[in-house]
Amino acid sequence: MNLGHFLTQAAQRYRDQTALVWGQESWSWTELNARVDALAAALSARGVGKGDVILVISRNSNQMFESMWATYKLGAVWVPCNFRLTPPEVAYLGSASGARVMLYENIFPNHVDAVRAEATHLNEVVCIGSAREGETDYEAIVAENLGTAFPEAAVEHDDPCWYFFTSGTTGRSKAAILTHGQMCFVVNNYLADQMPGLGPTDASLIVAPLSHGAGVHAMPQVARGAKSVMLPGSSFDEEAVWRLIEEHGVANMFTVPTILTRMVRHPAVDRYDHSSLRHVIYAGAPMYREDQVAALKNIGKVIVQYYGLGEVTGSITYLPAEDHSIVDDEMPVGSCGFARSGMEIAIRGLEGEMLPPNTRGEICVRGPAVFAGYLNNPEANAKVFKDGWFHTGDLGYLDERGFLYLTGRASDMYISGGSNVYPREAEEVLLTHPGVEEVAVLGVPDPKWGEAGVAVIVRSSSGEFAGLSKAELLGHLEGKLSRYKFPQMFVFWNELPKSGYGKVPKHLIREELYARGDLVKNEAGDRT
Ligand code: AMP
Repeated sequence: MNLGHFLTQAAQRYRDQTALVWGQESWSWTELNARVDALAAALSARGVGKGDVILVISRNSNQMFESMWATYKLGAVWVPCNFRLTPPEVAYLGSASGARVMLYENIFPNHVDAVRAEATHLNEVVCIGSAREGETDYEAIVAENLGTAFPEAAVEHDDPCWYFFTSGTTGRSKAAILTHGQMCFVVNNYLADQMPGLGPTDASLIVAPLSHGAGVHAMPQVARGAKSVMLPGSSFDEEAVWRLIEEHGVANMFTVPTILTRMVRHPAVDRYDHSSLRHVIYAGAPMYREDQVAALKNIGKVIVQYYGLGEVTGSITYLPAEDHSIVDDEMPVGSCGFARSGMEIAIRGLEGEMLPPNTRGEICVRGPAVFAGYLNNPEANAKVFKDGWFHTGDLGYLDERGFLYLTGRASDMYISGGSNVYPREAEEVLLTHPGVEEVAVLGVPDPKWGEAGVAVIVRSSSGEFAGLSKAELLGHLEGKLSRYKFPQMFVFWNELPKSGYGKVPKHLIREELYARGDLVKNEAGDRT
């Protein structure tokens, strides 16, 4: 089934009921479906069809939401970018995905120009806002085609619907191919496990960018005719969140731990009625037990955790609300839950051997939520798919009951404010500064962001750069890397600790950071 059929069916069944709310505006299921069909018809008339790649850069908006469904109905492939990416980063996504169409919010013209320069397949640019010369105006083509019902393209189970770009350990993103069949399973899996009982009288609040987990979370809402409510502003505002929860009787939402913590620790939590909440999902990064308890105390037993990754779209484990408690003995503290319905987890050792319960190894998974592989990347595919199992790169163990505990990651990726950061990316840019001889970036616990990057720098020995400072290095990163990937702390050492083979193991640096007192000093706010 084409995923776009979920929207067609919702429009048939729920017609004038509200589908989407954004600020003062709202759209019924009939209106939303008509706009999506109009966009799909307009793009189809311009030659866009099955398998074509549609690159999208926009903050959350009704058009961003519509672009996902129009892409599905066309049988095309949605490539939403994190809107914090820089023009060169987006240009890479455009060329690596072979984008044919780019759809953008008018505050990102430089991103379009960068993609045009690199992506040779690009031949259609659609602007949300004021289109420039040679570009197509989003609202104009929607208006022209309103009233044209668009027949969904016929797709097979393995036809791609979304290239989900993950940050790459080698510094470059990889496109994980998500397919119609896989995502159809994922939608059903969300309905069965995470949000049982979801229905057309429910509302879901969207607080995170639709380009990532929140986009996936929006799909089961459409499948069940539950309305989605988007935050009116582009920045996160706790007061607005609680107000909207009361106003719309919100039943569910997708968050990351840092956002959930900000919400439940904000005084507005007690000023609004949030008794409608049933499933407040938190995922994507570890949550400190203290914050979990604060959430349970302030909003009740309505928090649901899941563990997943782009490649196994949000669907490895879940920890339902009933398995949470403020009493340690009444819940598996530290666990991210058990295998989702239809999914199987194994813990494997260095030689690929299956490990018994309570033994740490690599978390491997198989089942219908696993993606179809990385686009044009046989090397990466060979690394992660072995004997029928997807190797996540996460480390952990299962207990006797099948509860999974994450203990670390095989790569040195860290998660800051819910976003994955691969230190290698910042390291590579820092090394291009003539005053930097050696660098190591690593994630450390951070009270605000969950984790934050610390950069250990060895200045070049020429003497000329003896005064090289954090400010200068931040200036060097500017425009080359998204800001959320910038290290927050900088420390300057004469040399980096090395292993016997001359390597720079991150654990040695971490130990030394504590031994020297740099991290303690930094936590006190005295950041070099
Ligand atoms: P992404 O592909 O951006 O969704 O990031 C996936 C990574 O986030 C996983 O490989 C884990 O390292 C981490 N992650 C996801 N969910 C959780 C969770 N519930 N607890 C701890 N880490 C998580």
